[in-house]
Amino acid sequence: MASLDGEMTNIDVRANRDVIASLLAAHGLPSEIVVYVDNIQAWCREQRIEESNPWRSAKTLYHDGTHGVTVLLPNVITGDMVQSVTGGMLCRGFPHWRELEQDGSLFLKHLVLHEVRHVLERHHDENLCDTWAYEQLGAKSS
Ligand SMILES: [Zn+2]
Repeated sequence: MASLDGEMTNIDVRANRDVIASLLAAHGLPSEIVVYVDNIQAWCREQRIEESNPWRSAKTLYHDGTHGVTVLLPNVITGDMVQSVTGGMLCRGFPHWRELEQDGSLFLKHLVLHEVRHVLERHHDENLCDTWAYEQLGAKSS
């Protein structure tokens, strides 16, 4: 699946560590909760954690260790991974999926904020997380 605009460029997540850290800090979370991995599914398999999605772009794990939570992020997010996320948004009726799909920087910030919401609320309502994350983006740019 290629977008109408041609090949989607990869998002270099690790290169945006500072942006990610400041988004976390704005919500009182330490940057140490993020673990960058090459591939989330492969990492989970090594840890014997179930993960069925090979294109997973982020995953929040709750545990009894330091900080009580870990947010897994991939070092690089490919176009296929972006479309896996935005395809899910489309299925759930989240209206801003295309805007996020077309802007890698916005996509990454929204992705991180989505996980921030999971961390803060410990619920698994994807639409609530998406809507809240999108509101945070708006609050920053206006
Ligand atoms: Zn989620």
